[in-house]
Amino acid sequence: MARINENYLKLAGSYLFSEIARRVNEFKAQNPEADIIRLGIGDVTRPLAPVVVEAMKKAVDEMGNVGTFRGYGPEQGYDSLIERIIAHEYAPRGVQLGMDEVFISDGAKSDTANFQELFGVDNIMAVTDPVYPVYVDSNVMAGRTGMYDKEKGMYGKIVYLPCTEEGGMKPKLPATPVDMIYLCFPNNPTGVTLTKEELKEWVDYAQKNKAVILFDAAYEAFIREEEVPHSIYEVEGAREVAVEFRSFSKTAGFTGTRCAYTIVPKDIMIYDSKGEGHCLNKLWLRRQTTKFNGVSYPVQAGAAAIYTEEGKKQIQATIDYYMENARIIREGLKEAGFKVFGGVNAPYIWMKTPGNLGSWEFFDKLMKEAYVVGTPGAGFGANGEGFFRLTAFGTRENTEKAIERIKARMK
Ligand code: PLP
Repeated sequence: MARINENYLKLAGSYLFSEIARRVNEFKAQNPEADIIRLGIGDVTRPLAPVVVEAMKKAVDEMGNVGTFRGYGPEQGYDSLIERIIAHEYAPRGVQLGMDEVFISDGAKSDTANFQELFGVDNIMAVTDPVYPVYVDSNVMAGRTGMYDKEKGMYGKIVYLPCTEEGGMKPKLPATPVDMIYLCFPNNPTGVTLTKEELKEWVDYAQKNKAVILFDAAYEAFIREEEVPHSIYEVEGAREVAVEFRSFSKTAGFTGTRCAYTIVPKDIMIYDSKGEGHCLNKLWLRRQTTKFNGVSYPVQAGAAAIYTEEGKKQIQATIDYYMENARIIREGLKEAGFKVFGGVNAPYIWMKTPGNLGSWEFFDKLMKEAYVVGTPGAGFGANGEGFFRLTAFGTRENTEKAIERIKARMK
C-alpha cells in the first residue's frame, strides 16, 4: 500500500490567490461594468529585453546546427554566465567569489524551497512574519515545523520573527536559539530593506550560534538608495554563514523563461551529530548534480546578455519603469492619508489598512469602491493581518488610474 508523506497533511491550505480570484469573479458577475485593476500580481508585465531575445534566438540556432549543438550542460551552469555574474554583480561591490560558489538554477523558488533538505530535520528554523510562503511550506513538507495551529496561524516549531509597524517592519533577533534563518531583503511582501549595520547583527548572530542565514535577494535589482547593501556578502563575516539567492525573474523579466542563481560560499560549515563540520557548498553541489540537470543553454545565453552594455541599459529601463510605478503608488497612498512601507527600494508597497479593518475587509472595500485588487497581508502570515500589499509590476496607465481612484473614492 502506498503511504503518504504525512508532512503534506500538515500544510495549511494556501487559499490566498484562489480566494482572491473567487471574490473578484463574484464581484465581476454582479458588476459587469466594473473595470477592475489588479495591483496584486507578483508577476512582471514588461517583455524580455531585445538583447535577451536576440541572444536566445542565436543560441537556439546553435542548437539546431550539428557543429554547435550542445547536450547536457554543467549542472551548476555555464562558465560564461557564472563569470559575468561574478564580474558584474559582485566584484564591483568588493565581493570576491569563486566560480564554484555560484550555482545557476531555474528559479529562486526552487532553490529557496530545496535548500532546506541539506539541514537535519531537527534544526530550528526562523522566518519573518509576514513571509514569502515558500520558505515555510517547503519546511513543512520536510517535517521540520510541527503542526499548524489554526487559531494562531502558526506552526508549532517555527520561530516567527514579527515585523511590526512599531519596528518599521524589520525583524528582531530571535529570543531563543535557531539554526536556520530565512531573510528576504528587499522584502516581499513589505518592501523594506536592512542597512549594512542591521544585516551585520544577523551575521554576528549566525556566527555566534553556528546558524546559517538563507538570504533571498530576489529583489536586489530594485534597490535605489546608495547606502542599502545589495548582497549580504557586503557584510564582513557573511561568507561563513550566509547563502544568497538571486533571480533573473524580476530583474530581467524571466518569470516565464526561468533562470536564477544561488551563492554558496565554501567557508560555510554545517555540523554532524559528533560536532564535525561539513562544507555546505560541497553538499549543495552533490544535491544539485544528483537532482538537477542544469538550465537550458538558450536561457543561460539570454541571461548572460543582460551583462552587455546594451543589456544593462535595457533592463535598467524596465526596472526604472516599475520603480516609477512604485513611487506613484507610494506617494499617492500617502497623499490619500494611508500609512505605507516599502516602494523605495522594492517593487512592493505595504500599506496599513485604515480604521483597523482586517486585510480581507479592506480587500473587499478597495475592490467594491475603487475597483482595485491587491493582496491581503494576512495571506503572508499572522502579522500581515491589518496590512495590504500592492505591487509595481502593472502597466503605468493602470497604476495611475488605480491610484487616482483610491485618492478619489477611499478618503
Ligand atoms: N523569492 C521571493 C521573495 C519572491 O517573491 C519570488 C517570486 O515571487 C521568488 C523568490 C521566486 O523567484 P523565481 O521566479 O526565481 O522562482
